[in-house]
Parts: sequence; C-alpha cells; structure tokens
Amino acid sequence: MTNKAGGKTTAQHCTECNQLRHDREAARQSGDLSKVSDCTVLLTRHKQEHTDPSR
Ligand SMILES: [Zn+2]
Repeated sequence: MTNKAGGKTTAQHCTECNQLRHDREAARQSGDLSKVSDCTVLLTRHKQEHTDPSR
C-alpha cells in the first residue's frame, strides 16, 4: 500500500514493517530458514521506502 495522503509513516509504526518482522520471527520459530531470508530481503527493500527522500 502506498500512503501518499497525510505525511510519512515511521518504520517503528508501520504495519508492513511489523508484519514482515512478525513473519520473519514466525519463520525462524518454525525453522524455515529460506523464508527467514526472504523476509529479511523484503524488509530491507521495504525499509528503503522509509528512508528514500524522493518519496
Ligand atoms: Zn514500513
């Protein structure tokens, strides 16, 4: 989801960040290491949206 209306969402309060962290933790708990690294990649990529000043 893009959130263009009403300013920026911080990474700390972003539901997508939280969801990705939750998914990664769940994958870690179940020993699904390939999903853990998938989530890490997705989270890293997604976090760039928070830090990209052009957005
Ligand atoms: Zn986020």
